[in-house]
Amino acid sequence: MENNFILVLNCGSSSLKFSLINPVNGAILLSGLAERLLSEQAIIKIKHDGNKQQQQIPTPFDHQTAIQSLVAYLTEHELISCISAIGHRVVHGGETYCQPTLIDSDVKATIEKLARLAPLHNPANLTGIAAAESAFPALPQVAIFDTAFHQTMPEKAYIYGIPYHLYSEHGIRRYGFHGTSHYFVAQQTASILDKPLAQSSFISAHLGNGCSVAAIKDGKSVDTSLGMTPLEGVMMGTRSGDVDPGIIFHLVNQLNYSVEEVDNMLNKQSGLLGVSQLSNDCRTIETAYLEDNNRQAALALDVFCYRIAKSIASFTASLTELDGIIFTGGIGENSDIIREKILSQLSLLNFKTDVDANIANRFGKSGRITTEDSRSAWVIATNEEWVIAEQTFQLLNQES
Ligand code: ADP
Repeated sequence: MENNFILVLNCGSSSLKFSLINPVNGAILLSGLAERLLSEQAIIKIKHDGNKQQQQIPTPFDHQTAIQSLVAYLTEHELISCISAIGHRVVHGGETYCQPTLIDSDVKATIEKLARLAPLHNPANLTGIAAAESAFPALPQVAIFDTAFHQTMPEKAYIYGIPYHLYSEHGIRRYGFHGTSHYFVAQQTASILDKPLAQSSFISAHLGNGCSVAAIKDGKSVDTSLGMTPLEGVMMGTRSGDVDPGIIFHLVNQLNYSVEEVDNMLNKQSGLLGVSQLSNDCRTIETAYLEDNNRQAALALDVFCYRIAKSIASFTASLTELDGIIFTGGIGENSDIIREKILSQLSLLNFKTDVDANIANRFGKSGRITTEDSRSAWVIATNEEWVIAEQTFQLLNQES
């Protein structure tokens, strides 16, 4: 067995995706997902050699125990020796990191400092790094930052309409996230259209637990819906997205919320969860809507889709051409209901859903979901893991 595979770890707030990837051709030796972390339903699913295994993650059901379960599997199947490096998805690199970066104690300290900008994610990323360091002490660990792709945004897109010194002295600006995913799906769609990425323009919608829309002009990010923190923009699983900032003062001054309670409410109790009053999981909400005609579920789906459609329409201001809209992420790749609702809000831009193609392109299948006489919209299964493996490999080869 070759020993140049990269173990890619993508620690989300409640999930851990992992892949053992050949960085040159993207071939996956092993992949899997630990999900529902921090709950008693935490499970790890491992796909290897055509077999799928699923097991409970032991208490305390966290990222650390998920990685321990993975390491036990890798050891049992003699796969440890084929790993040459670990590539970590890290959410917030601020203005410090716009390139893949070899992790050392300074880098970890900076990621920790930046956690105030990404409270749901950077701590989970650090947990993944610490667990991987103790499991693989001899291997290089590389961070690939989700903010990096958006460093090409022009000033007019990343400066807020607030006093400029808050940017120049404190770095308060828009950064954007999900960069690796937006980059990958744009590259894939350009390749389907047989156009160089550098001559292609898209609006991509990464819809998972976190959601963002990006405007990509000539292959580069020129605007995106997430801002300084992963709270701005469209509505998400538990995050509100844009709200009138005056609501915060109202909550504090009139309703006696503490700042921590406002933070918790906007980050953890809002979005699909807050409006549906059921769950942050889109599948649960869709089932309640379809099978029980649940009013809150219907409302949550309507608000979610309308806000995404508005964000997509607003990004036509950032582009001079549009080769298509791209849907990706757990919801974007799987929910025909959400995609249809979003596209139906965009009829003025001549988007018309092809009902059969929309239903057919789910569960990992990618393709066009609009009719021939419509502008094109695509479902593209994202593969952040391959981008992370490739960039990790390239960095280490440059350095050696
Ligand atoms: P994360 O941001 O944690 O990486 P994912 O990209 O995995 O999240 O997306 C998780 C979301 O995708 C959840 O809301 C989940 O309900 C949704 N999802 C997954 N499969 C489906 C499906 N078949 N239909 C609708 N939504 C789905």
